[in-house]
Amino acid sequence: MGNWKLNGNKAMVAQLITALQAPATQHPNVAVAVCPPVLFLGQAQALLTDSPIALGAQDVDIHDQGAFTGENSAHMYTEFGVQYVLVGHSERRTLHGESDAMVAAKFRAAQDAGLTPVLCIGETLAQFEAGETQAVVERQLHEVIAHCGIESFANAVIAYEPVWAIGTGKTATPEIAQGVHAAIRAFLANLDAKVADGVQILYGGSVKGSSAAGLFAMADIDGALVGGAALQADEFAAIISAG
Ligand code: PEP
Repeated sequence: MGNWKLNGNKAMVAQLITALQAPATQHPNVAVAVCPPVLFLGQAQALLTDSPIALGAQDVDIHDQGAFTGENSAHMYTEFGVQYVLVGHSERRTLHGESDAMVAAKFRAAQDAGLTPVLCIGETLAQFEAGETQAVVERQLHEVIAHCGIESFANAVIAYEPVWAIGTGKTATPEIAQGVHAAIRAFLANLDAKVADGVQILYGGSVKGSSAAGLFAMADIDGALVGGAALQADEFAAIISAG
């Protein structure tokens, strides 16, 4: 899944989506999705007619409509063919002060509209160095479970994204990432083994074409949430091929 963040223009959207059609079609077993900035969703939807590439949004408001200037609701996204929405990306948590409770409310708003939330969780560098990774991701998961129930993860994706690896060029080693993914699955399995078994857990943090295969070889790494490399057709195509 590619998160384009605040990047692109109409020409780039057309170029990138056109370039990704062939690799996505050649790998029908790999679920490919792109999350362009909201202004380009209509253009992307038109380009993706009859394409295996799904569309995602980068954030969602907790309300359906009303006096919330600048926001976009989950129901609005459904009119643009959006299937996925990122909730709790670390840039939203850090730059926009989103709390675990707010993220849980966004998760629910997405599901209520029939979208699949992609819940982003992960620790900062200081938390990693202090050995707090597991406690942090469990706290972030707990809030959603308390708000939406464990069964809500039957229709959700989790993205483990160590904050220290996002946009820094430092990818967690496959072993480190696998350890956290396994711990996330075990935490969920304590509550519902079937849900834990079925939920997709993506890894995110400076994934590139060259690092994807090593990550995907791990038992509990089901895919990748990709930022920078998703803006380069060749890199993203290489990640798709590794899937
Ligand atoms: C992201 O923004 O979710 C991300 C993983 O970014 P990058 O791949 O650039 O680290």
